[in-house]
Amino acid sequence: MNNSNDTRFPDIRDAVRDLCAQFPNEYFRKIDEARGYPAEFVDALTKAGWMAALIPQEYGGSGLGLTEASVIMEEINRRGGNSGACHGQMYNMGTLLRHGSEAQKRNYLPRIATGELRLQSMGVTEPSTGTDTTKIKTTAVKKGDRYVVNGQKVWISRIQHSDLMILLARTTPLADVKKKSEGMSIFIVDLREAIGKGMTVRPILNMVNHETNELFFENLEIPAENLIGEEGQGFKYILDGLNAERTLIAAECIGDGYWFIDKVTAYTKERVVFGRPIGQNQGVQFPIAEAFIEIEAANLMRYEACRLFDAREPCGAQANMAKYLAAKASWEAANACLQFHGGFGFACEYDIERKFRETRLYQVAPISTNLILSYVAEHMLGLPRSF
Ligand SMILES: Cc1cc2nc3c(=O)[nH]c(=O)nc-3n(C[C@H](O)[C@H](O)[C@H](O)COP(=O)(O)OP(=O)(O)OC[C@H]3O[C@@H](n4cnc5c(N)ncnc54)[C@H](O)[C@@H]3O)c2cc1C
Repeated sequence: MNNSNDTRFPDIRDAVRDLCAQFPNEYFRKIDEARGYPAEFVDALTKAGWMAALIPQEYGGSGLGLTEASVIMEEINRRGGNSGACHGQMYNMGTLLRHGSEAQKRNYLPRIATGELRLQSMGVTEPSTGTDTTKIKTTAVKKGDRYVVNGQKVWISRIQHSDLMILLARTTPLADVKKKSEGMSIFIVDLREAIGKGMTVRPILNMVNHETNELFFENLEIPAENLIGEEGQGFKYILDGLNAERTLIAAECIGDGYWFIDKVTAYTKERVVFGRPIGQNQGVQFPIAEAFIEIEAANLMRYEACRLFDAREPCGAQANMAKYLAAKASWEAANACLQFHGGFGFACEYDIERKFRETRLYQVAPISTNLILSYVAEHMLGLPRSF
């Protein structure tokens, strides 16, 4: 049974659904158990052109918008998969598309479209500064025709399944800029050149089967031509990418949320305890209904954030609110689904515990719920700045 009335983009939904049918829950379960990477699934998505959805046709992609990209990501999670293995390419693409030079676009985009190159990683977070991004300590110093990078990053995902990374580093010391958001720049790092030649990768074993790493830079040299846009403006550029990331992850949470609702409604109709289906008890119905309402509401905010992003209008508030609503709704749906499966919810073969762990991540990454509340309080409600 399909519990959502959302029938927008039926062609994309049908096609992605057909592809996902070749990679059923058992596939993702086995990958999770082995702490592996769904390489065959990502290859199939790439070959079918979905990973190049945002690349304009002139560079070999299909020229779709963030709205369509969000539907692709939603469908993957809704069918039991996890877009976290590959969503980086979608939002990193936006940064290159909007701020890269024509030469950079011609150099990278056609090869990303064919799958020859993968742009799955973005290096922003650092261990000692956390969410306080403008305080990052990684520096890139220009020396002739190269930048020399020193510093450290943490939680940088998909490095082992990517050829390129977008890196945020300070090019002017914080003490020398007027505004703290100035003086940072973004670069394309060719991981095949960098690893072992100034860049070291240390994987982090974590609660979700999500490939993520600590990165160490010691005099890593990057060609100056790999700077994206203007030096010192990188923070502004990366915000576009972060808005796309938040909106796509909202869509993934919506996919997760519907998956949990489908699963729990089917189960509670059939599971008979005390002589009646457990779903006949209002104590069981209400948390499921509440989560469903919240997913439907989050879905509307997701489309609004996509619409604004695609129209190149400011969308920070909507992207943040969509991510907040969707991550909360999918988490409530996950809790209800686990709870009403009783002991069976804990059995790996039901896939609930896997999806439960996967959707929990989005309360913290890519931005924590508290930071979204603080953004809304300050930027939308005009409350005094707290930090
Ligand atoms: C699996 C995984 C994958 C990731 N992938 C990437 C990636 O590919 N690239 C990348 O750059 N980063 C990545 N991240 C990092 C992620 O974006 C950060 O973990 C997240 O933004 C939170 O930052 P932090 O961990 O430094 O938490 P901190 O900034 O240390 O904050 C910890 C907690 O304190 C609270 N808090 C902090 N400040 C405030 C405040 N002012 N008011 C109220 N509450 C506050 C929040 O609840 C927050 O969750 C990933 C993280 C994980 C776990």
